[in-house]
Amino acid sequence: MTCYHEIICPKCGGNNIAKLGLSAHGAQCYCCRHPDCPTQTFMRNYRYRAYEPGIKAQVVEMAINSSGTRDTARVLKINKNTVISTLKKIASTLVQVNPLYLKDAGKPREVRLEPACQKAELNEQ
Ligand SMILES: [Zn+2]
Repeated sequence: MTCYHEIICPKCGGNNIAKLGLSAHGAQCYCCRHPDCPTQTFMRNYRYRAYEPGIKAQVVEMAINSSGTRDTARVLKINKNTVISTLKKIASTLVQVNPLYLKDAGKPREVRLEPACQKAELNEQ
């Protein structure tokens, strides 16, 4: 009886995979032979969690959802410097949420406060 473990490309999901030698730490490397696949090499198990596919996308997603650098590093179990360098690399591609508000940030503004309830309700309290 022959048993095998099917290896699938993490980017395209194809199974046209070839072995590509060993890494410096002895882990098997693979390459995807699909002509349109952007993946050149990958491994089944990574030594550092930050190299796993999808971790960088999670860093960006958590930053968009207002997670801090240390919070992201703690949840994803990667180094905070990896989080910072990932965010610096994609900083030019991000669009600010409200650029008009940030454009006028230094100018003084008129602020008015209005009561949230009626006078009768205020007297009762
Ligand atoms: Zn592929």
